[in-house]
Amino acid sequence: MILAELEDILGIGAQPYASAVFTWPESFPQAFVGHQALVDGIEALLPAGLWVAGSSYRGIGVPDCIRQGRQAADQVIEHLFESSASFTGVV
Ligand SMILES: Cc1cc2nc3c(=O)[nH]c(=O)nc-3n(C[C@H](O)[C@H](O)[C@H](O)COP(=O)(O)OP(=O)(O)OC[C@H]3O[C@@H](n4cnc5c(N)ncnc54)[C@H](O)[C@@H]3O)c2cc1C
Repeated sequence: MILAELEDILGIGAQPYASAVFTWPESFPQAFVGHQALVDGIEALLPAGLWVAGSSYRGIGVPDCIRQGRQAADQVIEHLFESSASFTGVV
């Protein structure tokens, strides 16, 4: 399948010198019906200042994980800023 796709997309029709198939059993989190509600519940129970991000939560693809990581980082920065502001009395 890979060779056919390589030829179709890139026009590469040569056979590889060597190839191997690696399988990764249970490498992906398996979301069940109701997963989003479960994640909502987990996040609601997190203590202040703690966020989660990654393939177990809101999408397994790399773009999903990057988006979640960026959102978590934004929330951490906002939390630290607010904590710092309330600590120093700055509004
Ligand atoms: C074979 C395969 C092919 C894939 N292909 C694609 C693809 O083509 N496109 C796509 O969008 N997605 C693909 N994915 C999915 C995507 O790569 C993953 O879902 C995504 O990278 C998960 O990101 P993550 O940050 O949640 O977890 P990870 O990338 O697994 O990061 C978790 C990190 O935490 C570290 N860690 C774990 N335990 C501890 C600990 N106790 N203390 C400290 N560090 C710890 C690990 O070392 C790791 O660096 C693929 C996944 C696999 C397995």
